[in-house]
Amino acid sequence: AEKFNVKIVQLQRRMIELDMTESQRRPNNILNSDEASNLAIEFNLNPIVDEEKGFDIYPEIDADVSGLPLRPPVVTIMGHVDHGKTTLLDSLRHSSVAAGEAGGITQHIGAFSVPLSSLLPEGSPPTDATITFLDTPGHAAFTGMRARGASMTDLVVLVVAADDGVMPQTKEVIQLVQAAGDSVGMVVAINKCDKPMIDIDRVKSNLGAEGVILEEDGGDVPAVRVSGLARIGLDDLVETLSTLAEIRDLRARVDGKAEGFVIESNVDKGLGIIATVLVARGTLKTGAAIVAGNTWARVRTMTDANGNEIFEATPGTPVTITGWRDVPTAGDQLLEAVGGEEMAKKCIANRLRDLERKALADDLEAVNAKRVEARARAAADAERQAAALEAGKNVTQALLAAKRAEEAAKAATARKEFNLVIKGDVSGTVEAVIGALEPIGNKEAGVTIVHTGVGDVTENDIMLAEAAGATIIGFNVDCTRDLKSAAAAAGVPLQLESVIYRLIESVRKSVGALLPPKI
Ligand code: GDP
Repeated sequence: AEKFNVKIVQLQRRMIELDMTESQRRPNNILNSDEASNLAIEFNLNPIVDEEKGFDIYPEIDADVSGLPLRPPVVTIMGHVDHGKTTLLDSLRHSSVAAGEAGGITQHIGAFSVPLSSLLPEGSPPTDATITFLDTPGHAAFTGMRARGASMTDLVVLVVAADDGVMPQTKEVIQLVQAAGDSVGMVVAINKCDKPMIDIDRVKSNLGAEGVILEEDGGDVPAVRVSGLARIGLDDLVETLSTLAEIRDLRARVDGKAEGFVIESNVDKGLGIIATVLVARGTLKTGAAIVAGNTWARVRTMTDANGNEIFEATPGTPVTITGWRDVPTAGDQLLEAVGGEEMAKKCIANRLRDLERKALADDLEAVNAKRVEARARAAADAERQAAALEAGKNVTQALLAAKRAEEAAKAATARKEFNLVIKGDVSGTVEAVIGALEPIGNKEAGVTIVHTGVGDVTENDIMLAEAAGATIIGFNVDCTRDLKSAAAAAGVPLQLESVIYRLIESVRKSVGALLPPKI
């Protein structure tokens, strides 16, 4: 508990949730490294198992990595719009394809890896080192990827078009890099140097005004002159990047469980949910069970940026993975589960439950706030009515007062709401159900969704539905007999459905039933 920085009861609760036996949970019991690792993952920490020392917690960043193998630098190309980022990336990518086997066509997977040998100037010593380029909107490499305070990127190439100079987004990048401190290095690529009549001194003085002094002028920021379009200076750029990487001495553990980040994700018609991930430590193998954000995968296939199927991915390698249960989010941290699929499932179930608990608490608060408001409104109406009647010394006044009260009451009656709690098997389903049900209704009656969540119907859902006077809809999910009777006892209608049009029909009917009968 001390290592995890949590209270002992929190730790014990997690142990119960992981189905650890009573003897395992005893204070004097010594956990084995698998058990301890799983608990660490539960608390969103990254376990590291040292066969000799036993068990420890990351960050490895602070640990001594000097004995570990070198890893490729992760580079992001950033800069103002139209300064040539895409063109430069394309040129770098094509160089890597030309050098790659079969000269295959690269696919956009959000990142790619370039062998240094394909780009270094002729006569350079042979090397099998690579550079990993992130091909995502630059900011994504910074935002969201701040797990453990580190951005995913090691080096930023700041592209500045020589014919345009420092522009607003150039300044933004400079600020981002400055804010990241020592964890991120920067190279300035003065681009479009193939153009005539460009004024590099102006670019330099622009940069100087932002606190960026180039090495050639006595500062500490290396700069290269390039043309992404004419493919000039790419070797120089790559050489500079590789030197910077060398100085930074980037190393990572290759053995053991994989850890990394999700770079991008989407749903492919043929393959299902796919996500590109970048391995940061360890080795990811097909068949491994991994968790990321609120979902998990059993790695079915891994494909590199050249479309080749691979079976192992080491640090710095971007790979596209199939086998996800739900769509992970770019920036999510990826961890391989100790104990395989079972543990991954359990971990995600717990994460979802934590999220759900929080959402539930928020929603309950909103329902109660609404109720308090409605009560206050009703009380105010009654008071107004009473005062009016009291004041009504004669019949005319009383009638007037009654009319006013009636109007006030009418104004206070809002649209009739059919309240819903929606549960679905995966976030995609929940979203689809919300999309289908939310528009139902008109000015007089309609649907209000008070709570949604992924997973089976729980006691908490019933509690919330009871408080909100809501109906529970479970789409593609289960509900135990006990819960069904609990719902019945609480007077909460519960409907399990797996056919969307049937659900829409029945909700339409229920909303219609809220309207006064037409005469
Ligand atoms: P991005 O918005 O930063 O990704 O910029 P693009 O790569 O899309 O380039 C914007 C425009 O500048 C395009 O018309 C490119 O052809 C052009 N461009 C990019 N790099 C160069 C270069 O090195 N030299 C010249 N002359 N034009 C370039």
